[in-house]
Amino acid sequence: MTLAEIVEKSRRIVFFGGAGVSTESGIPDFRSADGLYRQNYDVPPETILSASYFYAHTEEFYRFYRDRMLPLQAKPNAAHHKLAQWERAGKLLAVVTQNIDGLHQAAGSKRVYELHGSIHVNRCLSCGKSYPASWIAQTTGIPRCTCGGIVKPAVVLYEEPLDASVIDGALRAISSADTLIVAGTSLTVYPAASFVNYFRGDHLVLINRDPTPLDGKCTLVLHEKVGEALGKLPSWLSEDTP
Ligand code: NAD
Repeated sequence: MTLAEIVEKSRRIVFFGGAGVSTESGIPDFRSADGLYRQNYDVPPETILSASYFYAHTEEFYRFYRDRMLPLQAKPNAAHHKLAQWERAGKLLAVVTQNIDGLHQAAGSKRVYELHGSIHVNRCLSCGKSYPASWIAQTTGIPRCTCGGIVKPAVVLYEEPLDASVIDGALRAISSADTLIVAGTSLTVYPAASFVNYFRGDHLVLINRDPTPLDGKCTLVLHEKVGEALGKLPSWLSEDTP
């Protein structure tokens, strides 16, 4: 079956995505040849993006974070838009994403489980006051709240646990899906990567530029760009049908 035929038949699609979903929006992923992890830093990005580094070297963390993790000019691409349309058309139950960029919501998706949090939520560690990402972007040094506390992004850093209610929602969605589309992820970041094992439906589809550990278990594997693969499919919205 083609991807179009699978989506045509499906009524409860769940999309499980990673950094590769946003590369066509100009945001580098981590592990591709041109990804962030292949660039040379004095301290590896995996270390900088850890909780222990955040608390011990807050200023250095923020120098990297403001420079590399706040792509506030990026716009949703064809993949984000198509998924939002499928949700409106009643075909898609939820998006489960490892991304922190908020582009699914920017495209109009409503039910989005952000396993690793979001750059758009930032809270004071002392009083809990919230700040937008644009505020973080224009700060220098350590971003401090009006109360003097350090402001921290609600992004799940290495060594931090995922939010229990987000895990619950994501696993419920995946285990009740008829089709799971896994895309733009190397499936190497745990526990997120293990969530695809909760799928019990009919069609497991993988769309990823490079091979992944899941390739051998899928109904359909497309080694393509996810924006191109989804962009050419119908929206299944009634206003689009002649
Ligand atoms: P990853 O960098 O480990 O792997 C990305 C995968 O996507 C690669 O296998 C690559 O072949 C594939 N890919 C890249 N562009 C693609 C495209 N256009 N179409 C199809 N496939 C494409 O990413 P990951 O598995 O998501 O793990 C990285 C972690 O980094 C995640 O936890 C995520 O939170 C974080 N991250 C997020 C962003 C973001 O929010 N946009 C960006 C970088 C990293």
